[in-house]
Amino acid sequence: QPITTDMATLTREVKKFATDKKLEIETLKGREEYRREFLGNVSHELKTPLFMVQGYLSTLLDGAMNDKTIRKKYLERAEKGVERLIYIVQDLDMISKLEIGELNLEIAEFDIVKLVQNVFDLLEMKASKKDILLMFDMKYNKPVLVVGDQEKIQQAVMNLIVNSIKYGKEKGSTEVSIEDLTEHKVIIRVTDNGEGIEKKNIPRLFERFYRVDKSGARTEGGSGLGLSIVKHIVEAHDEKIYIDSTFGVGSEFSFTLEKAKVIKKLN
Ligand code: ADP
Repeated sequence: QPITTDMATLTREVKKFATDKKLEIETLKGREEYRREFLGNVSHELKTPLFMVQGYLSTLLDGAMNDKTIRKKYLERAEKGVERLIYIVQDLDMISKLEIGELNLEIAEFDIVKLVQNVFDLLEMKASKKDILLMFDMKYNKPVLVVGDQEKIQQAVMNLIVNSIKYGKEKGSTEVSIEDLTEHKVIIRVTDNGEGIEKKNIPRLFERFYRVDKSGARTEGGSGLGLSIVKHIVEAHDEKIYIDSTFGVGSEFSFTLEKAKVIKKLN
């Protein structure tokens, strides 16, 4: 390669080199910051339930164990804390696999109507505790075949419905509907008439660990990972997720899925 002697070209190249390096350093710094923030969040999320479990266990050991009613109550609470820890660790595991792209999707055809009914069955108890009605738009009395990783899609639908219950009003309702969006796509909507989300908070909802109410004072414990898992799952399918929410009125989360191709039988 001939050496560039033209001063203008040389200056341009030096400048470009410097800008590229600067960008590279900034990206690295960004990643480092991201990692630090992530670790900070993880330990923070783990601390609350861990201290809770420790608290109940030491109170029991300090003598509370002798009272039969208290013993049961505290053991149950400690168990709840451990349960919560398990959920957080499972969510973390899922999210790290999704982020490093290790989670291979097992793509197959399945009936999304049946999947939603399945999730309803699993969440019926949780909903009834808040007197929340789970409704399914019964336009679809027949199967709707879609293509995707059934287990992951079930997790996504589950997270959305769990949220609609967690952030739903007592005696409220959650409605799931499945509609044709285009010839090849369906859209699954989960709508609630719960607390809704303020406009300013919407852009950050899908971030890991993001929670609108960080006070921890509320009873609904969560890790703030649920929605980012949903987003990852939907995007891993090359599909889209939408949110529409009005503060004080309710929210609607929806995502698209590819329909299974109908192969016409020609006899
Ligand atoms: P988590 O529920 O564990 O806090 P998510 O990632 O599932 O985490 O949700 C992030 C935040 O988005 C929640 O903390 C809540 O503030 C808000 N949110 C999610 N779903 C709803 C909903 N259906 N209605 C109102 N707020 C919601």
